[in-house]
Amino acid sequence: MHEMSICEGIIQVLQDQAVSQHYRRVNTVCIEVGALAMVEVDALRFCFEAVARDSLAQGARLDIIELSGQAWCQQCAKTVAITQRYDACAECGYLPLQITQGDELRIKELEVE
Ligand SMILES: [Zn+2]
Repeated sequence: MHEMSICEGIIQVLQDQAVSQHYRRVNTVCIEVGALAMVEVDALRFCFEAVARDSLAQGARLDIIELSGQAWCQQCAKTVAITQRYDACAECGYLPLQITQGDELRIKELEVE
């Protein structure tokens, strides 16, 4: 499962940071997930709990901020909403659009001790 490897990646980052930033426990992990990142939020939660078990993030709360998809249309010269990576501009049909939001999959904040 794709979400499983994402969560393993998150735990790996937490473990690396724990060493460099001197914390022992992670209480909350806040991540941003873009609508175009092809990630199932429910699956992500489920996997995170499984992967966090017996790690420094065991029992940690996972806050997920979902970001909608947005792209820049060169022809309309404005930002338009998109729901899929290769959507055309809803206003003029132009392709390709330049994605400006929705690609994110990153750790935004941590609450540690
Ligand atoms: Zn357009």
